[in-house]
Amino acid sequence: MYLMETPRPLSRTKVEYRPPLSVSIMCRHCAEAECVEACKNGTLTRNETTGRIELNQDKCLGCWMCIMACPYGAISQFRAGSGKEERPVANKCDLCPDRETPACVTVCPNRALVFEDRG
Ligand code: SF4
Ligand code: SF4
Repeated sequence: MYLMETPRPLSRTKVEYRPPLSVSIMCRHCAEAECVEACKNGTLTRNETTGRIELNQDKCLGCWMCIMACPYGAISQFRAGSGKEERPVANKCDLCPDRETPACVTVCPNRALVFEDRG
């Protein structure tokens, strides 16, 4: 089904496969977010209501300071737009703000992911 979506959905997590274990790499929406400190133009901000770390791709300069700062490797590079408008921007988990439970937690067949509010 997702193959038919336009634009194609953007992957916001990575899975490291180190047999016999797999580890999901995703943004932890840190209380002290190094990425927000590193981003000097306000692309990455904390939502004071939800506590989520949000990324406004329209503002992103593609300088990758956030990638260097994140201790979890949770931010990746992405090419947004197309043709002359194409440009590199940062990309990370947004905790699926339009869903009650993040999509990765919902679809994980092994129930390896848990979504809970740690305050
Ligand atoms: S991108 Fe990295 S540093 Fe920033 S909130 Fe997520 S896990 Fe923390
Ligand atoms: S790549 Fe984008 S989000 Fe990351 S530090 Fe630079 S401007 Fe901020």
